[in-house]
Amino acid sequence: MTIRDNLHVVVSGAAGFIGSHLCDRLLAENHSVVGIDNLLTGSLRNIAHLAGHQAFRFVQHDVTKPVHVDGAVDAVLHLASPASPKDYMRYPIETLDAGSAGTRNMLELARRWNARFLLASTSECYGDPLIHPQRETYWGHVNPVGPRSCYDESKRFAEALTMACHRVHGLRTNIARIFNTYGPRMQLDDGRVVPAFIDQALRGQPVTIFGDGSQTRSFCYASDLVDGLYRLMFSDERYPVNLGNPVEMTIREFAEHVCRLTGATCAVEHRPLPEDDPKKRRPDITKARTLLGWEPQVPLEEGLRLTIEYFRSL
Ligand code: NAD
Ligand code: UDP
Repeated sequence: MTIRDNLHVVVSGAAGFIGSHLCDRLLAENHSVVGIDNLLTGSLRNIAHLAGHQAFRFVQHDVTKPVHVDGAVDAVLHLASPASPKDYMRYPIETLDAGSAGTRNMLELARRWNARFLLASTSECYGDPLIHPQRETYWGHVNPVGPRSCYDESKRFAEALTMACHRVHGLRTNIARIFNTYGPRMQLDDGRVVPAFIDQALRGQPVTIFGDGSQTRSFCYASDLVDGLYRLMFSDERYPVNLGNPVEMTIREFAEHVCRLTGATCAVEHRPLPEDDPKKRRPDITKARTLLGWEPQVPLEEGLRLTIEYFRSL
């Protein structure tokens, strides 16, 4: 199979932020897409522009129930899962189900068709990391019973299940460990720092910095991340690959960028740091660079301008 073949691709989480951008990219590359979503945290608005596209079909379905698709399947991309801390703490059981039963059902679909399978995993697999920056060989520092465990352990289980299906059935699997990604179509009220700060700045409200704001993150623009996923789905690498932007900053610095780019004079309101909030996070992307020839292209300033424009338009 070459990267140019027209594939029949099934994407779970298609009405979500990243899933909808991934569908756009697959369609632009002339693949056909069946998008599945139960709309738990996603929105039909994210895929409204695809209504009537002859190579796109949307199926409203919960992937924790068995998944059947009419027609051939060449690739299965599993993104369905609540993803923001606010969402997964609100839906902890649904999150564990999406990573366990949901991953099992999507893997089973891939197995039936001998299709490729890609899992959207997360930097949360590293927990509150003791190694910095994080590379794929680090096993992580995760609290298995804390408030974030429903997400972290769900994804760690999903990775283990994916590797088991590769080992037992010879499935061609890929695992993307995605670091903080942002862009248009994020839900305004999902509590993540990017929509939260932009929304607050645009409304002239104080930005809510959790803790003293010295914790760090690095932010990858959606089109860069999707390009990484697209390259990874054609790779023969079975072990996890980090995809994220290695430019690291404190949350305080990030707030300053948002305020400057929105033109707002932001007051700051400090709130308690949530339990187990990782203090540092930055991907080591050497593996993605070497293996996929991939690295982020969109600078924070440009990505933030596009995202602010989107939120202004809502
Ligand atoms: P999102 O909430 O916008 O998208 C997730 C989508 O999955 C939603 O549309 C939701 O309705 C759907 N979904 C949830 N449970 C489902 C189920 N049981 N059946 C069918 N659909 C279901 O979140 P996102 O930011 O687009 O994240 C997409 C994926 O990428 C997730 O798997 C997430 O863990 C992973 N990821 C995202 C980030 C990030 O920074 N955005 C970072 C790391 C990993
Ligand atoms: N954060 C913040 N204010 C907010 C939302 C988040 O200071 O209104 C912080 C949060 O504590 C974390 C970082 O921003 O340290 C990133 O949070 P987000 O929920 O976007 O993603 P996470 O990386 O924690 O999954």
